[in-house]
Amino acid sequence: MRYSQLFGKTLREAPADADTANAKFLIQGGFVDQEMAGVYTWLPLGLRTLRKVEQIVREEMDALGAGELFMPSLQPKEYWEKTNRWEGVDILFKLKSQTGKDYALGCTHEEVVTPLARKFAVSYKDLPSAVYQINTKFRDELRAKSGVLRGREFRMKDMYSFHTNQEDLSAFYHRALEAYKKAFARCGLNVKVVQASGGIFTENVSHEFQALTDAGEDMLVACPQCDFGQNSEVATRKPGDACPKCQGTLAQMKGVEVGNIFDLGTKYSDAFDFDFTDEEGRKRRVLMGCYGIGTTRLVGAIVETHHDGKGVRWPKTVAPFAVHLVSLAGKDGEDILNVAEDLHADLERSGIEVLWDDRDASPGRKFADADLIGIPLRLVVSAKSLAEGSVEWKERRDADARLVPQQDILEAVQTFVHE
Ligand code: ATP
Ligand code: MG
Repeated sequence: MRYSQLFGKTLREAPADADTANAKFLIQGGFVDQEMAGVYTWLPLGLRTLRKVEQIVREEMDALGAGELFMPSLQPKEYWEKTNRWEGVDILFKLKSQTGKDYALGCTHEEVVTPLARKFAVSYKDLPSAVYQINTKFRDELRAKSGVLRGREFRMKDMYSFHTNQEDLSAFYHRALEAYKKAFARCGLNVKVVQASGGIFTENVSHEFQALTDAGEDMLVACPQCDFGQNSEVATRKPGDACPKCQGTLAQMKGVEVGNIFDLGTKYSDAFDFDFTDEEGRKRRVLMGCYGIGTTRLVGAIVETHHDGKGVRWPKTVAPFAVHLVSLAGKDGEDILNVAEDLHADLERSGIEVLWDDRDASPGRKFADADLIGIPLRLVVSAKSLAEGSVEWKERRDADARLVPQQDILEAVQTFVHE
């Protein structure tokens, strides 16, 4: 893809009110545009990364055997009254139609999925089952802040599971917990698995997945060596204590919650009288679990944990492109452009995602933009590199560049992309 043809470009300056690295670099890099506080357009560059993150999440949910569906954001008041959440949830956006009918804009989907599942899961033979979607959520957050970490309109993967008994729900819950760890690891994110407050005192278990960053709002007591963590508010352990899981020493840390999972018990099946018929023909209540991952927040958390002073340093798995090709067409302009054009075509033919900065701009500008955008590998075709029959190779994580002979470049890129 030619950068000159990409809709949405880097900005010379970051917005003055950018309070976090993700707000700064995602806006300045041309990944997102802020429409208003907490509401963003995902520009073509940012959408490529968001899609990769969502595809990783999708693959891990599919591996659990969950079915993907797509539920409405426009939801009837009656469902929200059944769960006492029409009045009970302060962040719920409410709308009135021209005929005076009330609707909620979905901030979550238990109120849709429970009556939906009730239509299909009538017998023990229909259970267990699990469904998920990746959809937009609306929340009237008092304070939208920290770029895409806390928005009023954002994307979330939400999964719901339905079971005939507690053992079955617990088994699925633990498989989901492992799937979450895998999904975050594939996105290049280290997470702490935090058992949430309710879990200690009540029967129903819940876990949060916390990415460590000072941009987060949650205080944790966590282990620097393994994934153990507790929320400071309810922690049974304190900084300096030995980690109960490994040899580490617990420390105070800040995190952002990128996902959570809940054992809901019969909370929502009670509200909607969701029963199934068991083997003996008796009616019994369905047990439910719910499992969320904020996918737009996840992109923000990746930036918070993968950047330097110049811009983003995307993990390969979620980078918008694999290669950032820069042509510096000075006085030998035509030759350089031809070599770059051929390389661009060769890379695309090999299925390698390449962004070619083909603009008539200064080397300084192009290099600064490449660092800001943060694609893992930068290739430069210049008079200097051509004089050596080479292409300059620089990885975003490294300080230094080196020359790779032109005839070896394709193979080297392929090795780099797949290693
Ligand atoms: P938080 O405590 O951060 O407000 P939450 O407990 O309200 O999160 P859930 O309602 O369970 O979170 O939502 C599931 C996931 O959606 C969260 O783990 C988080 O990743 C994401 N999420 C929640 N609120 C927002 C928001 N305002 N903007 C972006 N992502 C969000
Ligand atoms: Mg919240």
